[in-house]
Amino acid sequence: MNDTPESLSITSDLQEADRRHHLHPFTDHKQLGKKGSRVITRAEGVYLWDSDGSKLLDGMAGLWCVNVGYGRQELAQAAYDQMLKLPFYNTFFQTATPPAIELAALLAEITPEHLNRVFFTNSGSEANDTVLRMVRRYWDLQGQPDKKTVISRINAYHGSTVAAASLGGMKPMHAQGDLPIPGIVHIEQPYWYENGGDLSPDEYGIVAARRLEEKINELGEDQVAAFIAEPIQGAGGVIVPPETYWPEIKRICSEYDILLIVDEVICGFGRLGRWFGSDYYGLTPDLMPVAKGLSSGYLPIGGVMVSDRVAVTLIEEGGDFNHGFTYSGHPAACAVAAANVRILRDEKIIERVDTDTGPYLQQRWRELADHPLVGEVRGVGFVAALELVKDKATRTFFEKRGEVGGLCRDICFDNGLVMRAVQDTMIISPPLIMSREEIDELVTLAHQCLELTAKELGVS
Ligand SMILES: *Cc1c(COP(=O)(O)O)cnc(C)c1O
Repeated sequence: MNDTPESLSITSDLQEADRRHHLHPFTDHKQLGKKGSRVITRAEGVYLWDSDGSKLLDGMAGLWCVNVGYGRQELAQAAYDQMLKLPFYNTFFQTATPPAIELAALLAEITPEHLNRVFFTNSGSEANDTVLRMVRRYWDLQGQPDKKTVISRINAYHGSTVAAASLGGMKPMHAQGDLPIPGIVHIEQPYWYENGGDLSPDEYGIVAARRLEEKINELGEDQVAAFIAEPIQGAGGVIVPPETYWPEIKRICSEYDILLIVDEVICGFGRLGRWFGSDYYGLTPDLMPVAKGLSSGYLPIGGVMVSDRVAVTLIEEGGDFNHGFTYSGHPAACAVAAANVRILRDEKIIERVDTDTGPYLQQRWRELADHPLVGEVRGVGFVAALELVKDKATRTFFEKRGEVGGLCRDICFDNGLVMRAVQDTMIISPPLIMSREEIDELVTLAHQCLELTAKELGVS
């Protein structure tokens, strides 16, 4: 192709070049080839615009990450200033840069009390790869090298690298590339709507949590290194655990000597109306991977928050930890993340989600429960889901899971709303700055799109 990128401005030209040269994540390219990708060109606040000039309300905050919304000058300025001053220096071999140091100190302040150190990565996946190496290193240093196995959950999402995808519990991911790698096992997820049967949510929460205890006993406590979980499973379909679940998990983790890893990549930085999901559920993680909302997606950055318990062992006994990324603690990414955390803090964005806009979103979202396609509505703070089902009364899913969800998602996209589908579960995770008026618009659009979906299916 002779086209220079500058000459590609018409949508059809962009789509053609995209089709020819660009392999996308989690995309069926044969399908994409037929219609071409939707090209997003700019954004402001909670809205996106595509290359044809159409406006979309972004119900997903990009990909669960643009917590402070689009168009924040301070974040662009922080990157610009830092890039002029020092665009890059590494943090290997006993060096550091001011932005990495400042961000580390800021994170120690806002995360739960016993988490005072961070290991920087560029993504959530790298954070979880780091976690796997760190827990095994920890138990080695404790003189228990057999404690290697990590227990995770079916349908968890922890990222896409080999270790992170193995820690995750997504069957379609495991099916490609012989995953999971050895030493990672999966238990039931606390998904009452699908798995709860005749039990009440609270009864089922205990049953689901005890799967952990059963698995520890089956493998032997001396073989188990850690349990990893998201406070609320995000990509799995916004699975909000029953209220009894986390207290029982906490009991089990304190009775058995295993580490608790709380993956805060989605729940962190305000999504549940607290700084972290761990604050919301009262958890004390030994390791806490973060990413996404850490920089509101303006630049790629992630990290692992390390508890005093783990850090002391790694530092006092460990010598070199032979692990790191060229861009661990990248100065521009750290400067942007620090500016983002200050915006969240100084503008009291998380407090507003907790006391005002979060409860309002949840209240308005629950009105959608009356729709004939909606079997359950659930959510906390600024994350929520709708289960689309064939029969509400009997909690019966559609025969071919995913078809109706995909249809509804496409209808949303064509009607100015970004809402994601996980099989037939419709999910939202809007920017935390969304106003009450914008929430009204979101719910009105979602309702219209449910109506259009029902019409297409011949349901009334
Ligand atoms: C997105 C996500 C990850 C992976 O983060 P990447 O930055 O995409 O590598 C890990 N854990 C959870 C809970 C996530 O939602």
